[in-house]
Amino acid sequence: LKNYVTGKATESDMEVVATEAVELKVPEGSKDTIVLKNLYLSCDPYMRSRMTKHEIPSYVPDFVPGEVITGQGVSKVVDSTHADYKVGELVCGMTGWEEYSLISNPQNFFKINHPEIPLSHYTGIVGMPGFTAHIGFNEIAAPKKGEYVFVSAAAGAVGQLVGQFAKLMGCYVVGSAGSDEKVELLKNKFGFDNAFNYKKESDLNLALQRFFPEGIDIYFENVGGATLDAVLQNMRSHGRIVACGMISQYNLVEPDGIHNLFQIVAKRIRMEGFFVSDHLSSYRKFEEMTVQYIKEDKITYVEDIVEGLKNAPSALIGLFEGRNVGKQVVVVSRE
Ligand code: NDP
Repeated sequence: LKNYVTGKATESDMEVVATEAVELKVPEGSKDTIVLKNLYLSCDPYMRSRMTKHEIPSYVPDFVPGEVITGQGVSKVVDSTHADYKVGELVCGMTGWEEYSLISNPQNFFKINHPEIPLSHYTGIVGMPGFTAHIGFNEIAAPKKGEYVFVSAAAGAVGQLVGQFAKLMGCYVVGSAGSDEKVELLKNKFGFDNAFNYKKESDLNLALQRFFPEGIDIYFENVGGATLDAVLQNMRSHGRIVACGMISQYNLVEPDGIHNLFQIVAKRIRMEGFFVSDHLSSYRKFEEMTVQYIKEDKITYVEDIVEGLKNAPSALIGLFEGRNVGKQVVVVSRE
C-alpha cells in the first residue's frame, strides 16, 4: 500500500516493488515460523476498509503504507520450524501479497484436505467466500422450501453460491448483477429462477415488484444503499435480511441514506449481520459438504483469474467497478 485512502480507491494507491533476493528459509533461531510460497491470492471487498486509516479501530486491522498488503490465499510451505506445518504441505489462510511470505506463529491456517479439486477454489467456493454463503444463507437465513429469495451482487464470489444453495433448498431465487453477461450466467449456469441487470432498471422498487409479486422472504444483502432501500419496500411480513456486506458503501466518505427503514418495524423484519470469521469451528464440515457437491456436479463455480502480482492492484479495484465475473483470483504461481 502506498498511502491511506479516503473515498474511491485506485490502482495507484498500491505499488508493486521488487526486493533484493533473500534466502527462502526460516531465519536461524526463529521458532514456530514458516516460509510460504504463495500460489493463489483472493481479492475481497473487505480489503478496501483496510486501506483507510481508522481513528477508532475497525473489525480488521488497517494496512500500513509501505508494508505488504495481506489477504486470504493458497500457499505451499517451503520451510518450517513449526511442529504443525511440514515442508510441501498446502495451506489456506492470511498471507502476504508477495511471492514468498515469512510468518511467525501462524494462526487460522487450514491445511488443504482436497488438493484434487482446483487449488484456486480454496480462495472461493470452498474458501472464505463459499463459507460465507453457507453460514449466511443456510444457517442465519435458515431457509425453508418454497421461500422467495433475492440475492444482490449475485454473480460474485459469495452470491453465485447463495443462489445455488437456495435452489438446493427448493427456494425460488432471483439475483441482481451489473451486466447482461452476469445475468446470463445467473440464469443459465447457476440455475437462478430469474435475474436482472440493476444498472438497466430506472426504478429498483418496480423491478422487485415484477420479480416478486408476492414479496421477498429472504434477502441476502451484499450491496446496501439503493438496493437495500428498494428491498425494504418489497419484503414480506416476518421476512429475514441477512446482512453479509454493503459494497456500494465501501468507497463513500458519507454513507448513503436509507429512507425505508421503518419497514423493519411495519413488516416485523429480522435483519442480522454476521462475520464468517466467528464460525471457523464449522469450516471443516462445510468443506466436506461442498467438495462432495462439486464432485456430484450439484454446484458449479466461476472464477475470474488474473496472472501475476503486477495485475493484483487492478484486480482488487475491479471489484468496486464490477469488472470481475465470478470470484476474483490472482495467480502468483501455479505450483
Ligand atoms: P464479489 O465477487 O461479488 O465482487 C463484488 C461485486 O459487487 C462486483 O463484481 C459488483 O458486481 C458488485 N458491486 C461493486 N460495487 C457496487 C455498487 N456500488 N453497487 C452494487 N454492486 C456493486 O464480492 P464477494 O462475493 O467477495 O463479496 C460480496 C459481499 O459479501 C461484499 O459486500 C463483501 O463485503 C461481503 N462479505 C462479507 C463477509 C462476512 O463475513 N460478512 C465475508 C465475505 C464477503 P455487479 O457487476 O453486480 O455490480
